[in-house]
Amino acid sequence: MKPFDYIRAEDTEDATRRAAEVGTFIAGGTNLLDLMKLEVMTPDALVDINRLELNQFEETEDGGLRIGALVTNSDLANDTRVRRDWPVLSRALLAGASGQLRNKATTGGNLLQRTRCLYFYDRAMACNKREPGSGCAARDGFNRILAILGTSEHCIATHPSDMAVAMRALGARVETLNEAGDTRELSLDDLYLLPGDRPDRETVLEPGELITSVVLPAPVDGRQTYRKVRDRASYAFALVSVASVVAVENGRITRADLAFGGLAPKPWRDAQVEALLVGEAPSEALFHKAADQLLAGAQGFGDNDFKIPLARRTLVSVLSELTEARP
Ligand SMILES: Cc1cc2nc3c(=O)[nH]c(=O)nc-3n(C[C@H](O)[C@H](O)[C@H](O)COP(=O)(O)OP(=O)(O)OC[C@H]3O[C@@H](n4cnc5c(N)ncnc54)[C@H](O)[C@@H]3O)c2cc1C
Ligand code: SF4
Repeated sequence: MKPFDYIRAEDTEDATRRAAEVGTFIAGGTNLLDLMKLEVMTPDALVDINRLELNQFEETEDGGLRIGALVTNSDLANDTRVRRDWPVLSRALLAGASGQLRNKATTGGNLLQRTRCLYFYDRAMACNKREPGSGCAARDGFNRILAILGTSEHCIATHPSDMAVAMRALGARVETLNEAGDTRELSLDDLYLLPGDRPDRETVLEPGELITSVVLPAPVDGRQTYRKVRDRASYAFALVSVASVVAVENGRITRADLAFGGLAPKPWRDAQVEALLVGEAPSEALFHKAADQLLAGAQGFGDNDFKIPLARRTLVSVLSELTEARP
């Protein structure tokens, strides 16, 4: 492991300045330290943010919830407000990692965890994300867990977070602070970048820009669920996941907020899929039309071809469950 300095930041100003100058933030360390041991990430210094006062919940004036970046995945999943008003988020968190990991993993760190592409973790293999310009071993390699939507010829990695998928369906916004003291608020769509020809750039965050919190909008009507399909019943990343908030009134769908995990380099949401469902009476035929729309641009790379029919079946099943339009 490459030697590094360790800096314990005392406040957000100190943290952003030190990280912009020399280092990388460390929160729970559950992803970063593994990557450092493998020398996939080799920061000169770690800026420990655990003493910052970012582990609070705050109810917002419009009925939403501000979640500090250091709130652990366990505390977030078990918060009574989250369980009551945003259960899709609680379920997504509890479907991720293990109890021990969730006790350490934080909201900010979960959003910025790196892909689980095997070749990214193996420094003997070509990987444009780890080493720009070296190629992508996954395209013609073992790509069972990798993406079918939003890929580029340079990278087909997926974003691994379950939590981020639920937050995308809920329309959560990320709040940040930089070393100049400027703040900004980003939707999850704007936070994450698609790989294009720069898969090494995964988000729009600049060096030293700290995620301070995530804001959930006020709760909405509808039924919520998180369905995660994976190789084992627990302790495995999603092959396909669907976070959904669906409302039906007078026999018509009035809301269909849907985000997908395991399919793309970022939590995936397709406004056209939702527009196709809203205003219609639930039916299996309609759900297949929604799946056609979702998967119109899907491309498999061999081992992961199965994700295309799997995503269809999962979407149809989730919509059937939430609208009670059982096939
Ligand atoms: C065996 C295993 C299984 C797992 N299974 C799942 C799973 O099924 N589903 C799932 O979603 N996740 C899973 N995870 C991933 C786990 O959820 C993440 O490792 C964790 O959420 C990362 O949070 P952390 O606080 O430990 O981040 P860290 O490891 O501390 O940091 C991760 C990255 O975020 C940056 N960072 C952290 N906080 C901030 C901040 N506030 N502002 C700016 N940058 C920041 C760091 O610099 C680093 O680059 C698994 C992990 C392991 C090890
Ligand atoms: S898919 Fe992306 S992360 Fe995986 S080897 Fe290719 S470039 Fe690297």
